[in-house]
Amino acid sequence: MLNGKHAVITGSTSGIGLAMARELASNGANVVLNGFGDAQAIEKERVNIELEFDVKARYINADLSQAGATRDFIHAAAEALGGIDILINNAGIQHTDLIEDFPIERWDAIIALNLSAVFHGTAAALPYMKKQGWGRIINIASAHGLVASANKSAYVAAKHGVVGLTKVTALENAGNGVTCNAICPGWVRTALVEKQIQALAEKQGIDIEAAARELLSEKQPSLQFVTPQQLAGAAVFLASEAADQMTGTTLTLDGGWTAR
Ligand code: NAD
Repeated sequence: MLNGKHAVITGSTSGIGLAMARELASNGANVVLNGFGDAQAIEKERVNIELEFDVKARYINADLSQAGATRDFIHAAAEALGGIDILINNAGIQHTDLIEDFPIERWDAIIALNLSAVFHGTAAALPYMKKQGWGRIINIASAHGLVASANKSAYVAAKHGVVGLTKVTALENAGNGVTCNAICPGWVRTALVEKQIQALAEKQGIDIEAAARELLSEKQPSLQFVTPQQLAGAAVFLASEAADQMTGTTLTLDGGWTAR
């Protein structure tokens, strides 16, 4: 379905981004991976994608919390693949604290990666997409892009910002073949959430699985985690022709979180 398309997925060395890269590749897209992690493990993932799906897969290391590095990364990715058709702005981090206790450097780091990197990546990718009259920008926001939780000021502010930026990107490009949408996941059991489960287990003196159930029951009525694979399916849909007229909106996969 995406044969010959060139896709760049930020933060794709683990979790949701990796599942999305693999799913796009399984649909025929060439992919650029990015993110931190063990160099050997990343190389193994990259080679596996090439062998399993018969596409080009490249890895480009870049710290996307830096504006210049993010813009350079997009240009390097376009050069590595020979163009850029799909950009998934996915890299993200979390920190929880009351506002008055929130370390300034954690606020700055979250805003830099979870919000500003989406702006810089989009700004650098748009000229490639506009020139060819086709492009897909998919921003990984969150249920926290739509509603708030205590102790997550930076994350909630950044993700609400991403939803707003998604709308502006859509309006500025309406009708020119470039769409921009946000995916809003509820709880997904990745490294980012595992840390929060562990913290809850320690705080309440309960085991990890009990803490996972507790986390779900507080927010997610389905009491089931969203899977990276389900989110990857949503990304493929947004990249498909069926979504040609879908722009500036949010696709929410949250087990009912934001329904109440
Ligand atoms: P994850 O920790 O598994 O993956 C995060 C990725 O971002 C990794 O590849 C990591 O190396 C990369 N990364 C971190 N800092 C980076 C930096 N400075 N520059 C470049 N890459 C960097 O987490 P995940 O759960 O897969 O999160 C992916 C996205 O999904 C994030 O934007 C997150 O906010 C969002 N999200 C996650 C959940 C969830 O429940 N897990 C829910 C809603 C939204």
